[in-house]
Amino acid sequence: MSGKPRVAVHKFSSCDGCQLAFLNLGPQLLELGQLVEIVHFAEAGPVDPEAQVDIAFVEGSVTTPEDEERIQRVRARARYLVTIGACATAGGVQALRNARDGAGWMSAVYATPEYIDALATSTPIARHVTVDFELWGCPVNGKQVMAAVNALMLGVTPRDDVDKVCMECKRRQAVCVLVAHGTPCMGPVTRTGCGALCPSFGRDCYACYGPAESPNTRSLGRRFEGLGLMPEAVVRRFRGINNEAPAFREAAVTAEGGQDG
Ligand code: SF4
Ligand code: SF4
Repeated sequence: MSGKPRVAVHKFSSCDGCQLAFLNLGPQLLELGQLVEIVHFAEAGPVDPEAQVDIAFVEGSVTTPEDEERIQRVRARARYLVTIGACATAGGVQALRNARDGAGWMSAVYATPEYIDALATSTPIARHVTVDFELWGCPVNGKQVMAAVNALMLGVTPRDDVDKVCMECKRRQAVCVLVAHGTPCMGPVTRTGCGALCPSFGRDCYACYGPAESPNTRSLGRRFEGLGLMPEAVVRRFRGINNEAPAFREAAVTAEGGQDG
């Protein structure tokens, strides 16, 4: 990239937590401001959603007809499109409706559901447009964001952390909560990037960073059953924040007895 790259941060259906990862960069945010020109980031100030940019960061999933159309415009105006967080990369909690009767849930929750203009499904950005790189996590952390910006500025593909959380646990010499306490930890199938945060504090991982490379979900599901989890509890371990990630979706369907939807 020549000159200061132009960057936009777009929000789709999400809680804004990943955008906060940018704002929480602290002193690095000042550094980021010197490296790039932020032309659209409504949560931080600049608003120009139709601007042509070098890097478009996209938070959130596609859940409305307006989202479906807007993501096409974002893609057309960006050299690189990078998704940030579980919603944008794997549906987020709002995608739980994909496996069940979403319309039925809406009627049960809202007094006047006819005013809600939502699609029947909530889907990751890559189902709609080409995505150049995905940053996983719920939320992503500032370190990932800075590493991706630096890599793209140097013209190289950002490093994808696909190791399992267990590896990070071992490096940190954290006690294994699955082995030592029999808690149903998702670390054996979850990608690292968080520094094994939860096991370091004695609690099980719930897979907020999404599936690792070659996750053996079938074996882990059987291990969970061995710990006494009922099949529906095993399904819930996989059908969490990253429920539309293919590896977790298939694992949930398998644990459910093979029925999807
Ligand atoms: S605590 Fe979880 S992530 Fe850590 S080693 Fe055990 S199973 Fe793996
Ligand atoms: S240990 Fe698991 S649930 Fe906890 S932050 Fe890391 S990936 Fe997320």
